[in-house]
Amino acid sequence: MGTPATWVREGLCLLPDGAEHAARRTTIEIRDGRIAGLHEPDAAPAAAPGDRVIDGRRHLVASGFVNCHTHSPDNLIRGSAPDLPLELWSLHSAAGREERSPREITVAALLGAIEMLRTGTTTVLDHIRMSPHPTPEGLEAVAQAYAAIGIRAVIAPIVADKPIVQTLPLDPDDIPPNGGGSYGRAPLMPWTEQLAIVEAFVRRWHGGEGGRITAAIGPSGPQRCSDPLLAAAAELSERHDIVLHAHVLETRAQRAMGFRLWGKGMVRSLAERGILSPRANLVHFIWLEDGDLDLVARHGAAVVHNPVSNARLGSGICRLPEMLARGLRIGLGTDSACCNDSNNLLETAKWASMVHANTTPDHADWVGPYRAHALATRGGADVLGLGSVTGRIEAGLAADLVLYRLDAPAFVPLIDPVRQLVHAENGASVDTVLVAGEVVLENGRCTRLDEVALWQEAEDLARRRLEANRSIYAAASELSGPVQRMIRRLQGEDAR
Ligand SMILES: [Zn+2]
Repeated sequence: MGTPATWVREGLCLLPDGAEHAARRTTIEIRDGRIAGLHEPDAAPAAAPGDRVIDGRRHLVASGFVNCHTHSPDNLIRGSAPDLPLELWSLHSAAGREERSPREITVAALLGAIEMLRTGTTTVLDHIRMSPHPTPEGLEAVAQAYAAIGIRAVIAPIVADKPIVQTLPLDPDDIPPNGGGSYGRAPLMPWTEQLAIVEAFVRRWHGGEGGRITAAIGPSGPQRCSDPLLAAAAELSERHDIVLHAHVLETRAQRAMGFRLWGKGMVRSLAERGILSPRANLVHFIWLEDGDLDLVARHGAAVVHNPVSNARLGSGICRLPEMLARGLRIGLGTDSACCNDSNNLLETAKWASMVHANTTPDHADWVGPYRAHALATRGGADVLGLGSVTGRIEAGLAADLVLYRLDAPAFVPLIDPVRQLVHAENGASVDTVLVAGEVVLENGRCTRLDEVALWQEAEDLARRRLEANRSIYAAASELSGPVQRMIRRLQGEDAR
């Protein structure tokens, strides 16, 4: 019968049950990276000689989480960013991202991938930020990192052709000469060249590693992109049928900036320019206008919800219950290790389950652990264009599976597996992880690389980078006063 199979025997599996999931003892048969069959324990076929058998009897077996939004370079400077609103936070964290070598980009991506595999995430969208624009070597480094560790990854290179100082926008007299690091006045690479780099990357990597690596295009935010860049990015997304992933209306200042630039709401402007489509991901989407939910629903665009990051940066609370009621496509993201400060989607799912109860008077509309779990798995897969690939334990889909030890505090006594997974587990019980049927984490450790050696290297690289960028941090901090004044002005315009 061809290649050997892998069997996960008699695990307590979270299987699709309507739009959510329910637990049932099941034996999973895996062939060629996919789930080939789901069997009642008593009726499961015997393994053939040479097959791999994983005993799941003491495990909860769930589809791996889909983290729809992070920025891997920040993994190398985790813990460095002060608690500030987005625009001031960006000043600081951007300074730490400058002048990265390909090896630093690789190590940063691996740090996040290890953390995610250890906390039950098997698919990640990396909205990869390279300062000041994507480079072929940098994109190659990040793709090679994910290929090496074996996680499923969607790589969305950030493009932008307006310096941040223009899009806040600061008074030119307020910008110190040569100040501000990447916030300064230095012109950015023309958008045509940026998109050529991204398109070459798409051609090289989209569908690579047996489909584990896909590519996307990641305009930073509409206000940071010229109209021709955004139109060309949407066209590239359509031509290659890839996701277009952008921060949209994360802060109140951004909403005011949209009105300054286009004389109308940002989402209305995007809809009129043909940018909203089923391939579009609106990340954060907090400061929306009346009518925006209709536009998003009509165009089939998707939303990525990042509740921990939103709280860390004081951005606000996304109107998730309304979006769920409208049937919008929604996934969850951690956002970066500088604004969370983790890549643990279990924690984000718990926040998504609970935080909206504070703003939603009718408890029937609360999100709760079942819906949060569905958003963290099949919801996210659909948002990233991977709904027929991953996100559910179902015959024909990739075997992206996480085995949680049931003899762990979160699961004893075991009364409600989904609630206990989302509300009680933190990743400590993750024992074995499979991506496309391959065991990439075993006994809680990555199988394909030496984690300890990587951590030692990361400590060294991080310290040297923080030291080397001291003058960039100092230059950036010269802008904090002007930035703060501009945020207040934009917030005032928005409140008018
Ligand atoms: Zn982000």
